[in-house]
Amino acid sequence: MISEEIKKITAELPEGVRLIAVSKFHPAEAIMEAYDAGQRLFGENKVQEMKAKHEVLPADIEWHFIGHLQTNKVKYIAPFVSMIHAIDSLHLLQEVNRQAEKAGRVIDCLLQIHIAHEETKFGMTFDECRTLLDDGEWRELKHVRLCGLMGMATNTDDMEQVEREFTSLQAFFEELKGTIFQNKQAFKELSMGMTDDYPIAIRHGSTFIRIGTLIFGERNY
Ligand SMILES: *Cc1c(COP(=O)(O)O)cnc(C)c1O
Repeated sequence: MISEEIKKITAELPEGVRLIAVSKFHPAEAIMEAYDAGQRLFGENKVQEMKAKHEVLPADIEWHFIGHLQTNKVKYIAPFVSMIHAIDSLHLLQEVNRQAEKAGRVIDCLLQIHIAHEETKFGMTFDECRTLLDDGEWRELKHVRLCGLMGMATNTDDMEQVEREFTSLQAFFEELKGTIFQNKQAFKELSMGMTDDYPIAIRHGSTFIRIGTLIFGERNY
């Protein structure tokens, strides 16, 4: 049951780790069941779907956008999105800044890093991310706040590989915290860990776990 899973997972979370219930492909009723169990953070990966759900569900839900975001669609979620986890270019960050300004907001963002050994996952390499940050343009963007990093491990049964990938992201996160973001209190979030690997992610410093299947069951694509 959805409510039982929510309670089970949250009861075991260490301090400083928050659960994002990934509700993509699941109806508003399923979200309400989680909501009634106390869950407030939800993750979606499609703009239209998130917007439609936002319009019919309680206003105190925090909507986390966790999927690949096209620049021409930022405007639909800028008025209400709580955090965007998948910033993978300066161009996208600039568009989020532009739409946030129009909406009179500052939007929290995470930089997505490609740590998986798979072609299909989005995100920047460590070097691409360093280049974006060294450029410095992001410092001029007053309507976005860089709050940390996000990554997805390879979808594999090899848990040692998953562990190596999370370890590498944690190390990069610590590197940035100690250098470029030394004086930026907001840069403190590490979004990693899903149904199959979240306990490993927590051991490696995750502050946001994003769990779908374990809570809501299999998705019907
Ligand atoms: C779908 C999705 C999840 C949740 O995956 P589960 O394996 O169902 O827990 C987490 N993060 C991202 C980015 C996703 O797209």
